[in-house]
Amino acid sequence: MSALFEASFEARRQEPLLRLEGAEWTYGDVDDLATRIAVVLAEQGVQPGDRVAVKVPKVPETVALYLAVLRLGGVYLPLNSAYTGGELTYFLDDARPRVMVADLGGESEVEATGVATTTLTLGADAAGTLLEHAARVDDAARPPRVEIGPDDAAAILYTSGTTGRSKGAVLTHRGLASNCEALLSTWRFTADDVLVHALPLFHVHGLFVALNMTMSAGASLHFLPGFDTDRIIDLLPSSTVLMGVPTFYTRLLDHPGLTREQCVPMRLFVSGSAPLTTETHEAWRDRTGHAILERYGMTETNMITSNPYDGERRAGTVGQPLPGVQVRVTDRETGAPLAAGEIGSIEVRGPNVFREYWNKPEKTAEELAADGWFTTGDVGLFDADGYLAIVGRDKDLVISGGYNVYPKEVEALLDEHDSVLESAVIGVPHPDLGEAVVAVVVPSSGSGLDTDDLLASLTDRLARFKQPRAVEAVEELPRNVMGKVQKAELRASFAHLFT
Ligand code: ATP
Ligand code: MG
Repeated sequence: MSALFEASFEARRQEPLLRLEGAEWTYGDVDDLATRIAVVLAEQGVQPGDRVAVKVPKVPETVALYLAVLRLGGVYLPLNSAYTGGELTYFLDDARPRVMVADLGGESEVEATGVATTTLTLGADAAGTLLEHAARVDDAARPPRVEIGPDDAAAILYTSGTTGRSKGAVLTHRGLASNCEALLSTWRFTADDVLVHALPLFHVHGLFVALNMTMSAGASLHFLPGFDTDRIIDLLPSSTVLMGVPTFYTRLLDHPGLTREQCVPMRLFVSGSAPLTTETHEAWRDRTGHAILERYGMTETNMITSNPYDGERRAGTVGQPLPGVQVRVTDRETGAPLAAGEIGSIEVRGPNVFREYWNKPEKTAEELAADGWFTTGDVGLFDADGYLAIVGRDKDLVISGGYNVYPKEVEALLDEHDSVLESAVIGVPHPDLGEAVVAVVVPSSGSGLDTDDLLASLTDRLARFKQPRAVEAVEELPRNVMGKVQKAELRASFAHLFT
């Protein structure tokens, strides 16, 4: 993978790569720091194939650290900075990193896991032992040169843990590079692009899509330590691309500063990681004149489909397969490929697909077939024009009285109701039906929720078996940092409604 960036680092030493509050990092700055960090990591014993786990706040030096690990042939393993205690023990015990780079003061937390590793620290304002060691590296020192093959692991990223325990997906240099190239051409990325980077760096979206693309194109980015609507609005006039999760867009829409004029140099707004509602898509177009480009991807595969750059961006769909990526929809029982319009299991094949689940050969065998087709766990359908729509996750399907209910269909109708801001449809145990459909809704501000009226609005539009048996109002839906609704949590909260 790093081969894909090296050209930019050679050719653009004086050009900006990262801009943040009052500071600018050129490609040369990041390159030099990466060299020093690579020397430090090599001194700590990192060899090709070794994992380097990273659980740090979002600081710019992380970019150099990532680069350093790749250059050593190491395996970059970023962890959600929110993980603590038992969670951290699970990840370190599973991944067995040679080196762990933790937040300031993180040594004791790592020690408490009982996993043997070397801990370095990296915090805000260039604090921590990693950079102290790096500063002492001799100017002339260079890390060992290593041979890296396309099928070697570049990174292990853990899935978000939405449907169960997080799994480590082993991603290869070929996989990351091929996906990056497909996205660069599909989204017309060039060295002139300036990206607003407000996503975390421990997930595919912020790390591989946003950062890899920027570095490969020789472009630059505004580096935000976190999501901040005021900052983003301020940066739009000096930027060309924003990548975000749907909650970015809904929160920006709540900001009075979001106007058409503010977005003048912007050419592309990308959304993914969770479904973008048609309402948000339309509201964004009305406010800014831009159609958000929704794409679909996951930890195991990077990006799979994208709405077109030039053609119609169809709300409620995730677009068409990226170049080189195959997608099919198959019957959930028989596995037979289905025609357009038929709902089934979404499967993916291509160079972007991960090599294996780390330490989980049975799980790998279950999901990744010998012929290369990977079962995503998502359920969806192609329309007649080849646009893919996701209707939910296999594990979130509700089977009520023997009938399949696809949550998205019910959610979309609930969301149309004036008194509903957003909704999540789940199945909970029911003595007669097996599972009953339950609508968990966030009422729109100010409006009292009239449950009877809401249910009445569905009667003529949904078959009886799809209609919710209960409506539960909540203040907000539980979401993780990537904006994914945690349906397992909701199912647990409402497990005893009928039993
Ligand atoms: P786990 O696999 O551990 O249960 P996860 O699947 O949430 O967690 P990720 O790999 O971070 O972990 O997320 C990938 C999933 O996110 C996809 O399988 C899909 O369900 C969802 N997703 C991504 N992009 C979109 C999108 N544009 N629309 C709807 N869902 C999306
Ligand atoms: Mg998943």
